[in-house]
Amino acid sequence: MSIILDLRKPKAHFIRPELLLHPQIPARLYGVNPRTLRGSEWWDATRREIYGINNFCCWACGRHKSEDYFHQWLEAHEWFSFNTTTCVATIVEVVALCHTCHRYIHQGLAYRDYVAGTLSYEDMRRILLHGLKVLSDANLLLTYTSPTLLYQFLEYKELDTVYSRGMQLKSAREQLAMTIDFLKCDEAWKMLYMGSLHYVNVAGTIVTRAVSEADLAKMTDLEKGAASSTAPDTRGYEYLAEAMHDDPH
Ligand SMILES: [Zn+2]
Ligand SMILES: [Zn+2]
Repeated sequence: MSIILDLRKPKAHFIRPELLLHPQIPARLYGVNPRTLRGSEWWDATRREIYGINNFCCWACGRHKSEDYFHQWLEAHEWFSFNTTTCVATIVEVVALCHTCHRYIHQGLAYRDYVAGTLSYEDMRRILLHGLKVLSDANLLLTYTSPTLLYQFLEYKELDTVYSRGMQLKSAREQLAMTIDFLKCDEAWKMLYMGSLHYVNVAGTIVTRAVSEADLAKMTDLEKGAASSTAPDTRGYEYLAEAMHDDPH
């Protein structure tokens, strides 16, 4: 009788490459998140729970946590939907990502680390190329990535591959329209979570305001309207790195 040990890495149950299309969080909502509102104990329990759901593999790229170049752990990312009519960001779910995928989503932040000298040129390239490959393998259009970043960090051959695989960036005109739409909420962004609105006041304190059922219904209607309209998607403003940022964890 022989015992065979299976030393292969655990396989992901699913992959959701579209998670890499999450936009940057508006600066106004910096620090406004479930972790801050409910405490780190709750947050730690929540993320431990989601890490196991996909066999400890990244939900976006499907690699086991041990396969990441930078850190062999998973990170939790809050997935928001942004409504630029109500200026309300709603938490849709919390997802588990490898460090590289998480860095790709927060590429504005990664770029600031590069400028500050804490992330090397090669590592910035590594992050961008990983995200691009995941999206490209899934035949997803590259609509939310900063062209400026691509031209700065990719070689001509790599840019060619991006375009030849049918990945397109939104036109400058479209991006500008989206930016204006997003920025008009600049100071007004609020987060809807657990039936209340949360935002940071001028003193930098998080304010929680209850909303009525009627208000909630109205917002939901607007959300539905936005979801069903054919207007350009207003997510994705990575090139506005200076205006927007997010907590990396
Ligand atoms: Zn990943
Ligand atoms: Zn995140």
